[in-house]
Amino acid sequence: MDLGIAGKRALVCASSKGLGRGCAEALADAGVDLVMNARGAEALEAAAHDLRARYQVNVTTVAADITTEAGRAAVLAQGPFDILVTNAGGPPPGMWSDWAREDFIKALDANMLTPIALMQAVLPGMMAKGWGRVVNITSVSVKSPVAVLGLSNSARAGLTGFVAGTSRQVASKGVTINNLLPGIHATDRAIALDGAVVKAKGISMEEAISERAATIPAGRYGTPSEFGAACAFLCSQHAGFIVGQNVLLDGGATNATL
Ligand code: NAP
Repeated sequence: MDLGIAGKRALVCASSKGLGRGCAEALADAGVDLVMNARGAEALEAAAHDLRARYQVNVTTVAADITTEAGRAAVLAQGPFDILVTNAGGPPPGMWSDWAREDFIKALDANMLTPIALMQAVLPGMMAKGWGRVVNITSVSVKSPVAVLGLSNSARAGLTGFVAGTSRQVASKGVTINNLLPGIHATDRAIALDGAVVKAKGISMEEAISERAATIPAGRYGTPSEFGAACAFLCSQHAGFIVGQNVLLDGGATNATL
């Protein structure tokens, strides 16, 4: 399917690895020029080099922490953008009784206030042009809490509320905002969470992975490329009537009728 977005320009945050990288790659495959971001310059440059070589699109890199004001200013200076994919590392796991105010502020900054600030910066330009696509990478924890990820449950719920209202305010200008909710995907983040299970239960990494895979009806972890393909579709010309949705990509793990 031709996604109809060749030549558009996208900012894909936190995209040197994992789900962000999957989104960057699927957009590059659709002919979209990219601004890619991550903190570590080496992995970012390698990812950009790979996408330029394979898809012949323009890729600019900005090595910066997207959760800081200075980092956001550096990526936004590369605008304007037709497409925004927000993403950042997820908060650490822990116990509800352990987290202090500072832990919540950090999680809110990274996973709620950063995507909101990015949307506030790019939406006016998209609305003026009459076309724009925003996809926020959130989490399955929005639909179904992951108890050890209470910081993520909290921050992402806040972002989801903001998107629910704002997406309806900008839709008439040809701008859509939607959220993609990853369940377990095979990325460094998933490996880090598996590592925590290994420690807590005293089992091997293989056992931890197969235990978690067994909780997914699909029987396996998702892949960054499957995730990226869903993102690219939401950014496509065909997705203009999909507004304010929370799309779950979890292999059926969330046991719910709707
Ligand atoms: P990942 O494999 O660890 O990749 C994270 C990417 O983000 C890397 O490129 C990393 O590069 C970059 N990054 C992290 N913090 C950043 C920051 N402050 N500023 C700029 N770039 C940053 O993680 P992932 O699995 O793709 O997860 C992406 C998001 O989805 C996370 O918020 C995660 O919580 C959420 N999620 C993932 C899963 C899953 O199963 N994978 C499930 C639910 C939710 P640098 O470290 O060099 O900055």
